[in-house]
Formats: sequence, structure tokens, C-alpha cells
Amino acid sequence: MRAEIIAVGTELLLGQIVNTNAQYLSRQLASMGIDVYYQTVVGDNMDRLQEALRLSSSRADIVLLSGGLGPTQDDLTKDALASFLGRSIHIDRIAMDRIERFFMDRGVVMTENNRRQALAVEGGTPLPNETGLAVGNAITHEDTHYIVLPGPPKELIPMFEQEAKPWLLQHVLTHELPIYSKMLKFAGIGESALDERLEDLITAQTDPTIALYAKDGEVTVRISTKAAGEAEAMARLEELEERIRERGPEFMYASEDVPIEKVIVDFMADRGWTLSAAESCTGGLVAESLTSIPGSASMFLGGIICYTNQIKEKLVHIPHGLLEGEDVPGAVSGEVAEALAENVRMVMDSDFGISVTGVAGPGYAERKPVGLVYIGLAQRGKATEVHELHLQGNRETIRLRAAKALLYRLWQRLMSSKEEEQ
Ligand code: ATP
Repeated sequence: MRAEIIAVGTELLLGQIVNTNAQYLSRQLASMGIDVYYQTVVGDNMDRLQEALRLSSSRADIVLLSGGLGPTQDDLTKDALASFLGRSIHIDRIAMDRIERFFMDRGVVMTENNRRQALAVEGGTPLPNETGLAVGNAITHEDTHYIVLPGPPKELIPMFEQEAKPWLLQHVLTHELPIYSKMLKFAGIGESALDERLEDLITAQTDPTIALYAKDGEVTVRISTKAAGEAEAMARLEELEERIRERGPEFMYASEDVPIEKVIVDFMADRGWTLSAAESCTGGLVAESLTSIPGSASMFLGGIICYTNQIKEKLVHIPHGLLEGEDVPGAVSGEVAEALAENVRMVMDSDFGISVTGVAGPGYAERKPVGLVYIGLAQRGKATEVHELHLQGNRETIRLRAAKALLYRLWQRLMSSKEEEQ
């Protein structure tokens, strides 16, 4: 099954709004096993909209349209579709009753143009709009299926989930097997490096399929298969999961779609282990990501944002001689990262202490290059680890990557503690 999405709206072409509807619909269709080959954006113009319909119907089995269902004259989607299909258009009684009731309940006189929101193409199925007024439509015409949805995402999403998706499953995908997916999460490795490790598996893929994407310093590998039942699908996916894990066991931290901080919080909370953090260049990003996870209060004792040397000395007790003077290591150094991790752990009396100090840019600091970052990891009764990183990107990316790298090293340390436990 091939699908095409046509997003209608001059606002989209002018760059005034972002086409999040296409992103949402593409994801939904992918999860249903429907291939989206094209996404089109067209303005509120009858001729160009019909042109887009002509093209999409020549190459897609399913055409999803979003936007242009409102009351005004420039909302043309249903008129354009009806005219393209050579069908008439009429007022859907149920949708019209709802619109009239909406205005009556508010004591507002309905303007005549609101009737347009109840329009339905002849022979189609009206799709009720639970969160707005414009009714949607589903129409099959000469083996092509058209789904018409409203523009506002708060209307489009519920209409797709509650009306359009069940309609597609019942009328279009009757012979298709359902698709099952698993998300494998990686940290500490870039997308291209992971892609290289999986190259032969990716090249040979048929079913299950493998797709990689990177976001926020993590890489997600989505594996998907079509199967008659869940047990059969899971057996196939788990076999592939094992083969993928073997390619980088030290980087794969979860086989579900969770961020690494969630795995850390759950792992430490389960064992009653506590953590504290001293952050310089990340300005609290590590603390923010940990505390965004419910349950973190039982393991994260607190953090110190020691952005200046003064605060590194005063609150984290870093010796002045490490920070300032001729030929000293300086704030961005392995020595300071080590002392920050150890001292914050002692100040807060936690089981683990972590630290990060570096040059986020744009300019040099202490005559050290942008992207140079040190992270420290102290653990009660164990030697402290320090890692030197050379990160790429702008200020925002470097700060984010430094925070993720620290969380990744912490996760690795926790995994080795787990092995020692066993
Ligand atoms: P309305 O009844 O509000 O006019 P409509 O179905 O006619 O709805 P449009 O007029 O095309 O839809 O768009 C209304 C609003 O919906 C836009 O201002 C925008 O906020 C949002 N919207 C429209 N299309 C998209 C899209 N493709 N992605 C994200 N948001 C969109």
C-alpha cells in the first residue's frame, strides 16, 4: 500500500506554520505498515490543489489531505476533491446539527459560511470531529482511498485515531498483516558509527526491517516486522535484537523507547543508591534530565552548578592552585573534573558523584579549544574515573552532548557494578 499526504494551506508555503501534520501522519502510517512515498504541500488554490490530487492519485493507493475544511472561501479542500472526482457535495445532517447546537449553546448567531464545515463529498463516509466543527471525509474512488482531515492538529489527531485509522483498517487494510516494532536505544556511539557496525544487517534486511535515527545525543534503532500475531512477531524481533546487540553491547542501554536517564534513575532507585552532580559547562542539564524522570527524588540528592571558579572553590572546595595561576591545570582539566566529582560526592554524602567541565564555545576558554570537555565519575570506595571528550557542534549541541556523555559513562559504571554484584 502506498500513501501520499497533501497538506493544504498557504500559511505552510509562507513558512508561517510548520507541517507537523505530515510528520504525525507519516509516523502513523509507517506504524500501520503503509509506505508514504510523497508528501506534498499546496496553497489554498483550486487549480493547484486539483493538480496535486491528479498527481497523487496517479501514484498512491491512499491520499490523505489535511487542512482547508474551515468556514471561509479559501477553505477549498472538499470542493476541490468533489470536483476532481466528478462527485457532488452536500451538507451532512449530523455534522450540521452539531454546528448549529455549538452556536446555540453559546448564544451566538451562526454565520451562513459555517455551513461549509458540514460539507461532505457524495458517496463518502463523514468522519465526526470530536474537538472541532469541520467534518472529515473518507471516500473510495476507482481503487484510490481519500481521507480528508482538518488542519488544526488538536482536531486532526483525534479524528485520525478515532475515525480515519479504524476506517482504513476496516476498508483498506483488510488483507494486510499488522506491523509490530521494537525500539533499541543506544548512547555513547554516533549514528554513522552504529550504521557502519550494522551495515551488513541493514543491507540484507527484508523482514524485519531496520531503521536508524539520532536525536538528542542518542541513537534509536527501530526494528519492525509484519506478522499474524504478537508471539510470532516478537520471536522474529528478539532474534534480530540479539544480533544487533552483539554489534555494540556496551552502547545498547534499552530495548524500549526510553531515554538513558530513565534507565539510570530506575536502576539506582531499585538499589537505593544515591547520586549528586557538579556541573560547570552544562549549567544544570544533567540535573534537569535526571529530575525530569518520576522517581528520581529517591536517588538524586542534588546538584551544584559551579559555573565560575569562585563557586568551584567555595562550594565544591576545588583548591585555588588547580584553577588559577601560571601553569595550573585550569577549570577545564581532568584534575578539576576528578576533584569536582569526588568533592560533590563528599559534600552531599552520596554513593556516586558526577562532574562535567568544558568549553562550550563559541570562543576559546583558558586557551583551550571549543568542544574540549572533561567528565568525572566518583564512587564511594572506588577509584574515580575521568574522561576527556572532544565534542563537535555549536554551544547548544556541545552542552547537550556533554550531558549525554556523562550519563552514558554513569550508565556504564552502573552496569559494571551490576556485574560485580553477580
Ligand atoms: P479551520 O477551521 O481552523 O480553518 P482548517 O481545516 O480549514 O481549519 P486550515 O485553515 O488549513 O485548517 O488551518 C488552520 C490551522 O491549523 C492553521 O492556522 C494551523 O495552526 C493549523 N494547521 C493547518 N495545517 C497544518 C499542518 N499541516 N501542520 C500543522 N498545523 C497545521
